[in-house]
Amino acid sequence: MHKQDFYKLLKISSNSLSFTFKRFFNAYIEETKNIIVIQEKSNQELLKFPSVWLRDNCYCNSCFHPVSKSRIHNWNEFDVNVKAEHLQINPETKQIIINWTDKHQSIYDLKWLKERAFNQKYQRDYLRDFYRPETQHWSRSDFERVTHLFQFNDIMNDNNVLKLWLESLATYGIAIIKEAPIEKTVVRKLANRVGFLRRTTYGEEFIVQAKSDANNVAYLSDPLAPHTDLPYYEYKPGCNILHCMVQSKSDGGCNLLVDAFYIADRMKAEYPEDYNILLSTLVDWNDIGSEDGQAFHNIWRAPVIVLDNEGNYTRINHSIPQRDSHFSVPIDKVLPWYEAYTKFVRLARNDAITFKTSPGDVLTFNNLRLLHGRTGYDDTDKNVRYIVGGYLDWDIIYSKLRILKTTTRFPSKRTAFPVHICDRIKVTC
Ligand SMILES: [Zn+2]
Repeated sequence: MHKQDFYKLLKISSNSLSFTFKRFFNAYIEETKNIIVIQEKSNQELLKFPSVWLRDNCYCNSCFHPVSKSRIHNWNEFDVNVKAEHLQINPETKQIIINWTDKHQSIYDLKWLKERAFNQKYQRDYLRDFYRPETQHWSRSDFERVTHLFQFNDIMNDNNVLKLWLESLATYGIAIIKEAPIEKTVVRKLANRVGFLRRTTYGEEFIVQAKSDANNVAYLSDPLAPHTDLPYYEYKPGCNILHCMVQSKSDGGCNLLVDAFYIADRMKAEYPEDYNILLSTLVDWNDIGSEDGQAFHNIWRAPVIVLDNEGNYTRINHSIPQRDSHFSVPIDKVLPWYEAYTKFVRLARNDAITFKTSPGDVLTFNNLRLLHGRTGYDDTDKNVRYIVGGYLDWDIIYSKLRILKTTTRFPSKRTAFPVHICDRIKVTC
């Protein structure tokens, strides 16, 4: 239908049903027939939809399988130059009906269309509110403000608290769970509440405890400099869950944490050339050993700072012990990389926050973003520091978060966490 025809129809309808006029929306085919324009109310912006996209996303039963929610129309016959021949609107059902040049008819709900509008603002809101929460980067001095505390039982029993925990993790990269039982099953219970544990070379759950035959530096009682876990995996585990069952009564055993996205921001602002070197130099990360009789040799080559196509940080790789002696770059790139990396490590070290978890605390944080470490400690016969760890992957966390956003009672709050937060974390070391 052409714009003029639409106005004719609108006029007839509004004369005969004037009380529905306010609920009326406006839709027409642009001259080129490649774009459909919709306006919900006269004062609202135009929503434009490409014809090819509309036809591709027809959700009638022959184009779309409603149970699997999947596109099923025959792409071998799909015409990318398809055009709308005729357009009708139904003001009562708030639908538009389009007849296409390929003789197909499609019906679209206005609500469905609005959720998929190509306007920048709608797309930005969708990406931020539903795809993934926007990250907020923080320095050491922000730690107490950004670290939210949740009760273990609330997370296990209340979907709203579960959602707030996962939103905290996605936004700030950290959250602490208090008053978990002193049981080895806590990490698994939390992971199962979200989805499932991520298995690695070191198993599903792992015990961080000083061991005389340590096969990983984490299993020593020495200080552990801030690092990310498993940088030598292409599919690096997304989120750490560390349940403190016994804490060292010695002065040590404190956690160190740094938001490496914030450190990357600082590198970009203060040392832009070094920042670019850390973005562009592929580093060989590795781990060699054996666990439960299975030998392994993991290698992944990746820069220290990894960006996505839109220039957002997707992953930080940093672990001094797990950097390979192989460094597969041109020889003239070596010294500049070391100089840049040294600045990054120094900034991170100086921004590390130190605090000590207590038995029953579960520290959860984003392993693609935060660096974590610990101060050294001395075990005694009666006091052996004992931490149970496990991982969750971000695909699983984001999926759960979207399900919770569509099923929980309250709308998502991205910045305020007003409920079920017992108090703020105390910096104790
Ligand atoms: Zn169809």
